Amino acid sequence: TRVRPSSKRCAVIGGSGFLGRHLVEKLLERGYSVAVFDIRQSYELPGVTFYQGDLCDKEALRPALKDVPLVFHCASPAPASDDRALFQRVNVQGTCTVIQACTELGVQKLVLTSSASVVYEGADIKNGTEDIPYTAKPMDYYTETKIEQEKLVLQACDKEGGLLTVAIRPHGIFGPRDPQLVPILVDTARRGKMKFIIGDGTNLVDFTFVENVVHGHILAAEHLRPESPLCGKPYHITNDEPIRF
Ligand code: NAD
Repeated sequence: TRVRPSSKRCAVIGGSGFLGRHLVEKLLERGYSVAVFDIRQSYELPGVTFYQGDLCDKEALRPALKDVPLVFHCASPAPASDDRALFQRVNVQGTCTVIQACTELGVQKLVLTSSASVVYEGADIKNGTEDIPYTAKPMDYYTETKIEQEKLVLQACDKEGGLLTVAIRPHGIFGPRDPQLVPILVDTARRGKMKFIIGDGTNLVDFTFVENVVHGHILAAEHLRPESPLCGKPYHITNDEPIRF
């Protein structure tokens, strides 16, 4: 059966960001029309309507989410800012506002970009499943608020005709236009500041190619239905084996 054009509409909150823009580009390729909501506009593309505003402002969000059955939420202040009040306002209160706006406007599905750090306790995790509990000692304010944010979104899942939700948990994301991970790594190495090892050199870290992260988001969105096991669940996402360095 062919999908009606009206159901191929979606909104990407944080669509001007690194992951958000890759997501928007793939959605366009798959025939969606996309509303981008972000505090800044970083590009223009045919098929994209841009709405500038702060996600903590429900009235600003409304026009972007109106008549949209599917919403992706991948906006966040940069982890490096370490600004507790900002993380709390945007990731926690702002996410409540996003959920309220989605519910009031009759949005059917909300896909959250969470983070694998929500289960990180300070020791390596290999092949970690989604049964691992949230960490009791988040490594920073960013992670603390990503945990709260994820709980809010997953608890909002209502299979009885309400909003359906799912969360994707990537760890490090790399790929074209990556503003932080690889550029910062290269810059630090160039300045000769990578000549020490934390631990014994066998620590694990996981990086996922941005297009795989995007693929995971779209698969989750398209398989999210009231009867599907995805409802209200988080999913770890990676390429394959973690990289050892
Ligand atoms: P990014 O900084 O490139 O994009 C985030 C976007 O959110 C930006 O365009 C920013 O303007 C927007 N934004 C911030 N505050 C906002 C607000 N109040 N209202 C509206 N828009 C706002 O970051 P990214 O790397 O693309 O990350 C996207 C998501 O993925 C985030 O939720 C982040 O927590 C998660 N994540 C990223 C990584 C990574 O390695 N990049 C890893 C795990 C999880």
